[in-house]
Amino acid sequence: MNKESITFFRDKFNTNEFIPLHVPTFSGNEKKYLNECIDSTFVSSVGPFVDEFEDLMNQITKTKKTTAVVNGTAGLQVALRLVGVKKNDEVITQALTFVATANAIAYNNAHPIFLDVDLDTMGLSPNAVDDFLEEYGELREDGCYNKKTGRKIAACIPMHTFGFPVHLDELLIVCNRWKIPLVEDAAESLGSEYKGKPTGSFGEIGVFSFNGNKIVTSGGGGAITTNNIKLGERAKFLTTTAKQPHPFEYIHNELGYNFRMPNLNAALACAQLEQLDLYLNKKRSLANRYEKFFSSKGIKFRTETKNTKANYWLMCIELENSKERDLFLESTNSNNVMTRPIWKSMDFLPMYKNCQKDELLNTRFLEARIVNIPSSVIL
Ligand SMILES: *Cc1c(COP(=O)(O)O)cnc(C)c1O
Repeated sequence: MNKESITFFRDKFNTNEFIPLHVPTFSGNEKKYLNECIDSTFVSSVGPFVDEFEDLMNQITKTKKTTAVVNGTAGLQVALRLVGVKKNDEVITQALTFVATANAIAYNNAHPIFLDVDLDTMGLSPNAVDDFLEEYGELREDGCYNKKTGRKIAACIPMHTFGFPVHLDELLIVCNRWKIPLVEDAAESLGSEYKGKPTGSFGEIGVFSFNGNKIVTSGGGGAITTNNIKLGERAKFLTTTAKQPHPFEYIHNELGYNFRMPNLNAALACAQLEQLDLYLNKKRSLANRYEKFFSSKGIKFRTETKNTKANYWLMCIELENSKERDLFLESTNSNNVMTRPIWKSMDFLPMYKNCQKDELLNTRFLEARIVNIPSSVIL
């Protein structure tokens, strides 16, 4: 079966050379916009492409105010501060995620609580959050507190794993009941939808990444999206050094960041965003072929769940057990086909090993079985 898979990958990507997991494609206005940028001398922190990028993101994510930032991690860090996370607070997230989600919590000097994912979405489980809060939550005037630690639970940050949306309605019900603001780590889910609405538009704030390996890239970059204009304006303010408007003086009256996305990167992002629909279609068609192939071999190719549309950013299969997974990883990688196991659960990382967590049963199950397979857009 592994040999047949390798042949299938080689056939689909039409090469005998190395097949990477995910590489960008530049087939639109990328060079044109980059040249315009250089000719205009506006290559740095302000420029028309930054504004254009923010407008495009408002349209694509159906949100009211986007702030372009230097990368997704920085966006997450600011998003948590914006919803009120302070030093020594706690933030609920999923154990099975890319490290940036947890790091963004730690950068705010707050403590992550790692809860389980659902088997179907691979993202934060509303039931796990509900169970946790029933056991440890205590509602006070100013929000939810953790009975075990006495600390405030100041935010909840689910992540839409590989572009598969989490159960947003159910999660929002739990978070609202416990007065916990929801921030979506939508870094992997640009173009994904839940019940017909884009991910990143459900929480108080959504955060996207435009790193080189994501579905659309700006070289490096991120976006903070929100329907709360006040919050959006504060996002822009804090990420541009918190400078008070003044014709010539420098007035900074709180701690801001230089997290701006340079115009050069925004130029690349604009050209890429124009092709998002094309990429989504190409990925969907590759996903369909994978599904047919792998199901004929008795292997589970992961597909979108009911009421959702996935962007199929990184595609994945679920092997029978960790032994099967290791055999698959071995045979593909030694044959120049890049495949990767899903991340190690955050509770195994040295800096997060003492954080509160639940049983993480689904996390352990998926950790042992999920493998990402080559997912680049094929033109
Ligand atoms: C890529 C990614 C990020 C971080 O984005 P950068 O732009 O690389 O900083 C955050 N969270 C998740 C889940 C990601 O996949």
